[in-house]
Amino acid sequence: CGITAYAGKESALPFLLQGLEKLEYRGYDSAGVTLVSNHHLETYKAKGRLTNLKELLNEKEHPEHTGIGHTRWATHGVPSNMNSHPHTNESETISIVHNGIIENYASIKECLLEQGYTFQSQTDSEVIVHMLDYYYQGDMMYALKKCVKYLQGSFALCVVCTDYPDCVFVAKKESPMILGKTDTSAFCASDIPAVLDYTKDICALEDGQMAVLRPGSIVVYDFFGDPVSTTWMHISYDA
Ligand code: GLU
Repeated sequence: CGITAYAGKESALPFLLQGLEKLEYRGYDSAGVTLVSNHHLETYKAKGRLTNLKELLNEKEHPEHTGIGHTRWATHGVPSNMNSHPHTNESETISIVHNGIIENYASIKECLLEQGYTFQSQTDSEVIVHMLDYYYQGDMMYALKKCVKYLQGSFALCVVCTDYPDCVFVAKKESPMILGKTDTSAFCASDIPAVLDYTKDICALEDGQMAVLRPGSIVVYDFFGDPVSTTWMHISYDA
């Protein structure tokens, strides 16, 4: 289980895939990515090794500058293409990847079903994207703040959205997540080796923190949405 995300001036996919490869040691049964392309989302996912995902991706060019990637270690729902992440809302305007376990997903799912939401997967994670859709009224930070208040359990979470084609939104509680940046790019990943070929300027996101990644800038917030100061370190070794 691993996460990678990129917002920057380069194409997102090479970083997303090499980062997932560096995270393979964490174990996984399926993999996927969402790329934000001219105001729509392109999601690719495949059960099995990363090579299966790469085969799908090889069918065309992927110049998109924003994206999220995931390797899944199934906890809720069998390993399958449908249960692989990313998960998207029905209108395919929001996409999420999640590592961890949402303990109260069943009660959230019940509420969302009552609101008319339909589910594609058996995962606990899918409730997150529909809950974001439910709260989203043009301000993703607001929707994310609302969401993390209800989520119990552990999560490292990345969100992309067609209304914010240059941004990745991140939230963390009890699952690892590190941030990295250069003058033109912002990265996040489950562990440091995933970003070291791209940047040595790294910061560990703490429990109860959210972040917004944009090309060359990262702002970190607490779960109330107030900005918090962060300590960046310069790593002087190679992975
Ligand atoms: N609980 C989620 C699922 O089963 C995420 C698993 C993971 O951390 O990869 O899909």
